[in-house]
Amino acid sequence: MSETAYLNGEFLPLDKAQVSVLDRGFIFGDGVYEVIPAYSRRPFRLPEHLARLQHSLDAIRLSNPMTDAEWTRLIHDLIARHAIEDQSVYLQVTRGVARRDHAFPKDSKPTVFMMSGPLVTPSKELVENGVPCITASDFRWLKCDVKSISLLGNCLLRQAAADAGAVEVVLFRDGRLTEASASNVFIIRDGRLLAPPKDHLILPGITYDVVLELAAACGIPIELRAVTEQEVRSADEIWVTSSTKEVLAVTTLDGKTVGSGRPGEVFKAVHQEYQQYKRKVMRHAA
Ligand code: PMP
Repeated sequence: MSETAYLNGEFLPLDKAQVSVLDRGFIFGDGVYEVIPAYSRRPFRLPEHLARLQHSLDAIRLSNPMTDAEWTRLIHDLIARHAIEDQSVYLQVTRGVARRDHAFPKDSKPTVFMMSGPLVTPSKELVENGVPCITASDFRWLKCDVKSISLLGNCLLRQAAADAGAVEVVLFRDGRLTEASASNVFIIRDGRLLAPPKDHLILPGITYDVVLELAAACGIPIELRAVTEQEVRSADEIWVTSSTKEVLAVTTLDGKTVGSGRPGEVFKAVHQEYQQYKRKVMRHAA
């Protein structure tokens, strides 16, 4: 089955979906997006993703073109049109087509685009051995809580990681941990789970919430507070989390071994909980 897209009210083959070159998404990066994993064709934490979409739309002063019920119906419909069991649904809303002018157009119609492809989660090898990461200074803008399609900063940072053969780049701003180019970051020190609190400097990850819930259920003490660069560099464990990476252990940072150099015990416990939780959610949604 070829990939199907949704564009402005209709489903069509992905390679036939087209938008105007005057779309403000193309001209200014003026839009927001979401990536929603679907396990066994069931979207994971959909209400939370739709709430974050609303937050992003509010932040860029764009009214939501659909109700949550309409989004939910369309997302299920898109998933049903693909043969794959585990999918990654991408949706994007831009301010639509207008003559190029930075100020918002008075009456443009938002462009609504969705597509779905295979959900590629980390291989067993990556989960069992951990991944290399580098660090960089977080030079992005100060509204990182908005899931903006303007991702040039994230792309430059991620490419620096790719150039170094690393999976992610852990970011510091003013000596404090923020997140990574496309993931949230957690560390373990003396058995405690530390992460920066949700604010304008990080994306409020859906997986971030899942990991905190599972860690709490495992009885792991949690501290949500500013985490210093020094604390990260001397952490016992470092994790990166996202909808597609789930939870991954970082075993080298800038070429230096993290902890024992192997995924740590706390990581293993939370990763196992994550896999069980996914299975439970899928059963209940059936
Ligand atoms: N931070 C950034 C910058 C991201 O791009 C992502 C992935 N969307 C995340 C964190 C993790 O968010 P989530 O757990 O919702 O995938």
